[in-house]
Amino acid sequence: MKLTVLGGAAAGGNPGQGCSGYLVEHGATRIVLDLGPGTLPELRRHADFRTLSAVVVSHLHLDHTLDLGALRFALAYNPVKPPGRIPLWLPPGGLAWLGRFAAAFGEPGKEADFFPSVFDPSEYDPDAGLTVGAVRVAFRPTVHYVPCWAMRVSAGDGGRDLGYTADTGPSADLAPFFSGVGVLIAEGNAADPGPEPWDERGHLTFAEAGDLARAAGAETLVLTHLWEERGIGAARDAAAAAFGGRVEVARPGMSLGG
Ligand SMILES: [Zn+2]
Repeated sequence: MKLTVLGGAAAGGNPGQGCSGYLVEHGATRIVLDLGPGTLPELRRHADFRTLSAVVVSHLHLDHTLDLGALRFALAYNPVKPPGRIPLWLPPGGLAWLGRFAAAFGEPGKEADFFPSVFDPSEYDPDAGLTVGAVRVAFRPTVHYVPCWAMRVSAGDGGRDLGYTADTGPSADLAPFFSGVGVLIAEGNAADPGPEPWDERGHLTFAEAGDLARAAGAETLVLTHLWEERGIGAARDAAAAAFGGRVEVARPGMSLGG
């Protein structure tokens, strides 16, 4: 399984770096996990956006979804031949949200077809998981400000799985879910936890991202969801001190595995 980071910034883009988006490839299967602002241009450097196996969305925050709109237009003006629609897997409640997105940007009277003209949108059942081509995606609820699901992607070929926290606070206790993954993409939002109660926090500190990677036994931590203003180097150092293993900082075009 090959991972290519498409962004890696937090809720607003960093200079030259979009938000959350990850391309996972295994053979002919190419799935994108989240597609935040500024990630479509990077995706286009690595894969033909017209032939993706699926897009899977962790939660409905803008920094994980906005380029679905841009991809919609890219597909509409550059259709696949023969025509086909790309499976778009949304979390529960996602279809109603997609309707609101279309109402904001679709032409009046044509909103209903805005996304379905190029995507095949569905809501996944987090308990059942997904099979997309040659890979399986399992979900686990996180603790965030809206419903959000972490993902574990398995290729079933004896290689190690890939984990993705999406957005989560520390009380989600995701270490068992990610046990034994090869690569863990974990968010680290700040050095300090801030004033929220521990069990209500919706993000990890840098050190907590490292703690999670250590507890899960991950081989490599990809630290993501970073604000440049909070110090990328300091974020890496804090996560590495807590993890004790290999830490990579997410940046556009960075790839691992494959
Ligand atoms: Zn979020």
